[in-house]
Amino acid sequence: MNAHELLATLGEILTPAQINTDPDALYDAAADRYKKFAKARRVLDVPMPVAIVYPSSAEQVAALLVMCNEHGVNVIPRAGKTATEGGLENWKDLTVVIDAQNLDRVIRIDAYNMQATVQAGVRLQDLEDQARAMGLTTGHSPQSKPVAKLGGLVATRSIGQFSTLYGGIEDMVVGLECVFPDGHIARIKNVPRRAGGPDIRHIAIGNEGTLCYITEVTVKLFRYFGDNHRFYGYLVRDVEAGLRVLREVMVNGYRPSVARVYSEEDARQHFYQWHRGECVLLFMAEGNRHIVEATCQGIEEAVAAHQDAILEPVDPELIRSWFTHLNWSQKDIDDEFAGMVENDSHAGFTTEISADWETIPQIYRNVMARVRSEFERADDLTMLGGHSSHSYINGTNMYFVYNYRINCAPEDELRVYHHPIQTIIVEETLRLGGSMCHHHGIGKYRSEWTTAEHGSAYYMLEKLKTAFDPNGIMNWGAIYPQEEGMRFIR
Ligand SMILES: Cc1cc2nc3c(=O)[nH]c(=O)nc-3n(C[C@H](O)[C@H](O)[C@H](O)COP(=O)(O)OP(=O)(O)OC[C@H]3O[C@@H](n4cnc5c(N)ncnc54)[C@H](O)[C@@H]3O)c2cc1C
Repeated sequence: MNAHELLATLGEILTPAQINTDPDALYDAAADRYKKFAKARRVLDVPMPVAIVYPSSAEQVAALLVMCNEHGVNVIPRAGKTATEGGLENWKDLTVVIDAQNLDRVIRIDAYNMQATVQAGVRLQDLEDQARAMGLTTGHSPQSKPVAKLGGLVATRSIGQFSTLYGGIEDMVVGLECVFPDGHIARIKNVPRRAGGPDIRHIAIGNEGTLCYITEVTVKLFRYFGDNHRFYGYLVRDVEAGLRVLREVMVNGYRPSVARVYSEEDARQHFYQWHRGECVLLFMAEGNRHIVEATCQGIEEAVAAHQDAILEPVDPELIRSWFTHLNWSQKDIDDEFAGMVENDSHAGFTTEISADWETIPQIYRNVMARVRSEFERADDLTMLGGHSSHSYINGTNMYFVYNYRINCAPEDELRVYHHPIQTIIVEETLRLGGSMCHHHGIGKYRSEWTTAEHGSAYYMLEKLKTAFDPNGIMNWGAIYPQEEGMRFIR
């Protein structure tokens, strides 16, 4: 099948309004925020997809997948377009992007059973707004909440800023509907718990469009107690001291909604008015009044037990106001893009990893040391640091952040700057037993390490691919390493 025949066949399944072949839209669809700088400078090195299509039912998705499966057409599922790791990047000549734009219905907000069912193309912000109007919340609040959509949020195993209380998306999804390349529509029912064999929700959650297309999702809802929010902030001696306080809170069983520690460098860009060159530790407690009181007590006790870590407290109002400006709107994303057309810099890159409490400080130390000593363009770094923002009883994450001046051709930026730094972070994390990917997904740009991430358990991941997508049409190059695609990385 060639591109011309593909378009003709799409026309047999969908109406003309559901098929987009506008050249600018196809250029935009060829890459995501991973190659944002090259994209802004119009030097993308990847093929354009043939079309973007907008099915309006699971049955239409099924018909599209069956056709693509039969003819070996690559499929890239798409929702809110906020992917950061190349999950939306196209590496194949014959590709169709299946966009969830028309799957945009909030099907039911069930306040009695505390769950909401929506189609994959519903923006999280829209669901949250409707839930809030009923005194409820999804509890899910990634920084991309105004733009990201439920299909993409589930497909990437996303996590929100209040995760320490509410969990990641995997703790919220109670059921879903998804479509496989052979056209099978699977519906996983909505129940509070099940023990009917392995938890099959997890075949869809985090699949990054490599196994199935998610069409509908049911997530939990929580009562929203907006008046009970309490904030704490401290300047702390160093990252490791801050991590010790985080651990103390977590191992004592408390669940603040936010528990974070920022390195000096990262604190400078977030809290430039008041960080005074120090690391920052902060907490937020929310929920039912009694729980908030207990959580605040737990935070205060942990801080008291680690006085050696604390330099001074910060006015809680500063933390409160910082939180109100944290999310990125579509306008912020567009402004950054416009800025990259003019400037040789952007808002930088991040790599998020996780490990147990003992290992996280080691990874942090090693990464800082190796990047400063081994990275050939270290002089171009304008910022290198990180923060821990999602904690668990047995460990936490580290969100490495790095900004740099771009002193090379736009098309070389990722090879010259991002890839070498990311390689150090991933190598150190895997060497010390952590996970190289905490919440952005593997996309295409960490797929070279997927087998190392999973070790002997990669066997299980590989079998899923062979079983559900035997012809390899689903998001070629994402999660599952493809040697041929490495030319777009290295
Ligand atoms: C400013 C900014 C802030 C961010 N903050 C956070 C954060 O706090 N926490 C966090 O976890 N992430 C964050 N991210 C990353 C990103 O928002 C998440 O990965 C999000 O889950 C992607 O959702 P999306 O709807 O934009 O999906 P898309 O970008 O459209 O797609 C993401 C991936 O999911 C696949 N996919 C999309 N829809 C479907 C579907 N229906 N079925 C199957 N596969 C599908 C795609 O093929 C792709 O691989 C941030 C990104 C930006 C730009």
